[in-house]
Amino acid sequence: MFLLKVKYIRILCLLLSMFSLIEALKIVDDIVNIDVLIYQYQAGDDNITFSSVSGFYLKSEDKKLNNIKDESITISKVLTNSKVVIKNKVYSLPLEIISESPIRFKELEYSGFIKIKEAQNNKLVIINCIDLESYVAGVISAEIGASSPFEALKAQAIATRTITIKKILNNKHQKDGYDLCSTVHCQVYKGLKNQSSASYRSAIETSGLILVYNNQPIDAVYSSSCGGVSESTENLWGFKLDYSTVKTDSYCIDVEQLSGWQKKYLNWQKDFSVIQLQQMFAITNISAIRYNRVSEFKPGSNSDRIEKIEIIGNKIVTIEGQYKIRETFNLPSSLFIVYSEDNSLEELNRNSKIIFAGNGYGHGVGMCQTGAIVRAKSGQTYQEILHFYYPNTEINSEWLLNNITKEK
Ligand SMILES: [Zn+2]
Ligand SMILES: [Zn+2]
Repeated sequence: MFLLKVKYIRILCLLLSMFSLIEALKIVDDIVNIDVLIYQYQAGDDNITFSSVSGFYLKSEDKKLNNIKDESITISKVLTNSKVVIKNKVYSLPLEIISESPIRFKELEYSGFIKIKEAQNNKLVIINCIDLESYVAGVISAEIGASSPFEALKAQAIATRTITIKKILNNKHQKDGYDLCSTVHCQVYKGLKNQSSASYRSAIETSGLILVYNNQPIDAVYSSSCGGVSESTENLWGFKLDYSTVKTDSYCIDVEQLSGWQKKYLNWQKDFSVIQLQQMFAITNISAIRYNRVSEFKPGSNSDRIEKIEIIGNKIVTIEGQYKIRETFNLPSSLFIVYSEDNSLEELNRNSKIIFAGNGYGHGVGMCQTGAIVRAKSGQTYQEILHFYYPNTEINSEWLLNNITKEK
């Protein structure tokens, strides 16, 4: 079974790589291609080596293809005049490295092809040029796990594709010479790592679909588990979106349906002694802890997430904002309560134990991945899943064709 799966993935990779080769040669216009940074080379770094079982084609500025049959190539020298040396031959940048098989670079494998460009400050950027759907397949494997139910994978594929387009439109990396980086700043992307036939199929079967509102791609953010109630962009980031609301999600708290890490974060708990808190905040004689929910600050909001914590001792320490609170106490989410084991929070002494007990993992805005998985398990389609988590939005097949491909 496992071998069969691996073989199937290899065939898919080969097909995709061959497709990329054809694409590079013919410069096809009707496919959305994106440039993802995979490495930034600086003087003094190790040699840059690529390997592929099929050898390489190198395409430099003169557009001529140079075929190298070796299974690995190394950039032996970076010259100051936008040129590099490979196997004693000088190539001008930008340089494309193309292969019929996945290209291996620094322990990871990539479909599509590799482009080396010169960036600011004499740095070289190493970019994976890849068609949007292969990229989406790569990201969803890292984000929701390729073994999730298929309708959840499809929902994740559409959310991922939408966010990708939104980020490209925002041009965050335009000045750097690529569309997206491969870290959490944009989206984590590790090429073909952990991909399966299911992650490819979910991208291909939803190919070109994105979520739009008022005919614009939406901020299709998502998090691991909302803990039973979602959060809105307005409460968390200060801007209101009509498709982002606080609402109950009964699926991600259905304990019978959860497995592994999902169960771990359904109910979490983190304990602190008063002594610990005194050390953390350089404060003495802690006598009380007070906390406020978002709903106490935002009129009309029913969010129970915690917005502010005050620790009262010889001075008052205030921690404000959901992100700041999570970071300060290292909490999985901002949906929690605080209590003391023995006393009220207004009557603490140096032996008191403070308990943070909460639900969920992540910011809780947009799609809840745990909820999406359980909904898919219980028979919901990707359309039903997306319409629950991004209400009032439309799954659109035209926008991408009409807008992006013409620009690229
Ligand atoms: Zn980035
Ligand atoms: Zn949820």
